[in-house]
Amino acid sequence: MRHLWLLAMVAGCGQDWTESESSGLRLLDTTRTSNLNGQHRLAFDVLEGETAFLVTIDPEAPQRAVFLDVTDSDKQTVFDIDVVSEAQRRLTGGQFTLSTVSLNWPIREQDGALTAGQWRTDVGIIDAEDLFDAGVDSTIRVAFKQDSDFTAGDVRARVVFVGSVGEDEEVVRATEAAVAQWQGLYANFGLNLTVRFDTNASTEPVGAPGESSGELFELLSSESDVGEVTVVIAERIADNPGIQGFAGGVPGPILPSDRSVMVLSAIDNGGGDLLFSEQEIVLLAETMAHEVGHFIGLFHPVELTFDTWDALDDTPECDTQASCEAAYSRNLMYPVPVCSRTACTPQTEMTPAQRGVMHRSVWAN
Ligand SMILES: [Zn+2]
Repeated sequence: MRHLWLLAMVAGCGQDWTESESSGLRLLDTTRTSNLNGQHRLAFDVLEGETAFLVTIDPEAPQRAVFLDVTDSDKQTVFDIDVVSEAQRRLTGGQFTLSTVSLNWPIREQDGALTAGQWRTDVGIIDAEDLFDAGVDSTIRVAFKQDSDFTAGDVRARVVFVGSVGEDEEVVRATEAAVAQWQGLYANFGLNLTVRFDTNASTEPVGAPGESSGELFELLSSESDVGEVTVVIAERIADNPGIQGFAGGVPGPILPSDRSVMVLSAIDNGGGDLLFSEQEIVLLAETMAHEVGHFIGLFHPVELTFDTWDALDDTPECDTQASCEAAYSRNLMYPVPVCSRTACTPQTEMTPAQRGVMHRSVWAN
């Protein structure tokens, strides 16, 4: 009995975290085994001056994880999966059961500010039958930022050409031109974007994050700095013809994993070939800005089924293609570009609440 009690004390006090600092973020790392209820009960201290945290849970495959609740330093529940699920709005990827799952807090202005003191979160570990699973090990990281200005911030990206596209001068030219436009787009939202380029010679097909290519994505994300997003440029996304890009999470994981990347298809942004017109370079820039928007924490204002919306209060519901295009054809987070036969509507806008999500994200520091 005494042995069990001691274990509980250590876990409850959160003393089994390894603390470090990287690229201006404070990091807490640990590995945990899910308890008899199939949960991780995590406690960690928010320090004075810290303004947002991002938690990532990466359970052993094939188990998945989901955030059940978050409690602040006053023991108030600020996130409750039952309330969020009932609202039928997409607030965070943390409300979904995923192979690697992340939650940033706060998300919106109405979520309030971080307060110094001990915060807690309960995470469910879920098996293939959708049941809680005890005795499962997870890798866990919490990252904290101190950026107190939610109107200005820095985003850092590493763009990695994987396979033959890295030697294709036209793809490299188009990508560099698109990155310059992407920097201009983000500058309009108060985000200073710095980008470095890299290559990886893998000749394997590149899939979608969370579906395939897990080892490659874990490697590529481990080569990026902590807090630096990893954007993969591949010739195409295997098994996903016609898809221009995928993000591994909303928000993306803050530790290396099989989901810690965005993947873009050169062919599907290049109009079906690897030659880029000016219009196609614009689309590539918007795809990069859009996918990294997901990774920073944004959902589409409306899905293409026109029956699922984000949880922001200045992206009102629409429920037909016509009304949604009227509302959002210029919005950077609309799910698709809106094009006529000759031109596409520039998608360069974000609402104040969308910008607020980006600036509260640990990915924008
Ligand atoms: Zn999207």
